[in-house]
Amino acid sequence: MAARVKREDTVQVVRGRDKGKRGTVQQVDRREGVALVEGVNIVKKHVRAGQQTARQAGIISMETPIALSKLMPVCPSCDRPVRVGIKALQDGTKSRVCKRCGEMLS
Ligand SMILES: [Zn+2]
Repeated sequence: MAARVKREDTVQVVRGRDKGKRGTVQQVDRREGVALVEGVNIVKKHVRAGQQTARQAGIISMETPIALSKLMPVCPSCDRPVRVGIKALQDGTKSRVCKRCGEMLS
């Protein structure tokens, strides 16, 4: 089955704390069912200087993976989160289509 959410997709968070936020998918872990999305699910960590992760003391922000079920791809032509259908093309490859407008999502 083709992936519903792929790397470099623009997705919108439809559930949870970051609901409504959009970002670009950095990484998908299909086995875990999670994705890393730019600007989404950010946790702030207080760090002290000298720790491995930080050269300076302070607060750093980092993205943590979010469940794929909380994400929906944004259709470029609808400009809103949409449900995705899978369409088999004539050459046998599968493509994702927006269920709202029928546009291909690459
Ligand atoms: Zn659409």
